[in-house]
Amino acid sequence: MKVFVTGGAGYIGSVCVQALLRAGHDVLVFDNLSEGHRQAVLDAPLVTGDLRDHSLLDRTLREYAPDAVMHFAASALVAESVENPRKYYENNIESSLSLLRTMLACGVRRIVFSSTAATYGVPEIVPIPEDHPQQPINPYGFTKLVIEHAIRDYARAYGLGGVILRYFNAAGASHDGRLGEHHHHETHLIPIVLQVALGQREHVKIYGTDYPTEDGTCVRDFIHVEDLAEAHVRALDYCRDGHVLAANVGTGQGHSVRQVIETARAVTGHPIPAVEAPRRPGDPPVLVAAVERARRELGWTATCSDLRSIIQSAWQWHRAHPHGYEN
Ligand code: UDP
Repeated sequence: MKVFVTGGAGYIGSVCVQALLRAGHDVLVFDNLSEGHRQAVLDAPLVTGDLRDHSLLDRTLREYAPDAVMHFAASALVAESVENPRKYYENNIESSLSLLRTMLACGVRRIVFSSTAATYGVPEIVPIPEDHPQQPINPYGFTKLVIEHAIRDYARAYGLGGVILRYFNAAGASHDGRLGEHHHHETHLIPIVLQVALGQREHVKIYGTDYPTEDGTCVRDFIHVEDLAEAHVRALDYCRDGHVLAANVGTGQGHSVRQVIETARAVTGHPIPAVEAPRRPGDPPVLVAAVERARRELGWTATCSDLRSIIQSAWQWHRAHPHGYEN
């Protein structure tokens, strides 16, 4: 298939591009490089542009004539979305609506959409099934939920076919060690912990130690980025016109912030000092996926996502690329 990949220069998108190519697909990457890195686009052509640039998007889609779109491009930081919601509404909603509009105009009917566990809000049931109420507690989750609804409504009205993948916490690096996590301003737990191990930071802050969890810190379901990429390849095969599937992409296992730090200490051999800090606004206490639907519908299950393997994979990348793609 010919696949148009938005955000294919970003962390998850770039690993998915390589997985698509390995599966025999043809790929065109579209990225505005606001968060992504040109160096992360290894073996596919890149068009640099913004999804809100209608004429460029229209021209690119018509020329490339893809069979499907994978839509990764988005702003994706919970805390930033609380501080600067306008960026999220404008970037995530406007861009996605522009993309959907152009897809329909150009006769492209299949989409795999990057959604998030943040659309669930504070879960009433854990592990969280896909039909759990979606009541996001931060603007990031809300903007993703709006686009989930748009995809469902467009499927019903215009015959679009889609798979909505609700990511839990992506981490780790590509198996070949060439692609990894590099954000201009890092806020994610595992990279920060490893930056402490590299001596780039003095300590990691634990945001909240009074959550209603076993050790008082937040619990997350960490999924290896290569497992996530494989879920996208399966999702592409699943897409059919007029039908939308939403599936969680996680492991079904939760790990607390303290457990992550402990595991990173064991993997790196570094003491990784941690200091307790207040809660970070917008963080739900626990996010753990129910994984049956992805297994049943997509034939997908995580295979390399135990916490130690994820941290080892990330550690290898961070040691080899202490300044990310700016080496
Ligand atoms: N976290 C933390 N210290 C940090 C970064 C994150 O305690 O320096 C916590 C954060 O509050 C959340 C969990 O680690 O409970 C995962 O956060 P991350 O930003 O990695 O992913 P998110 O769950 O927000 O997508």
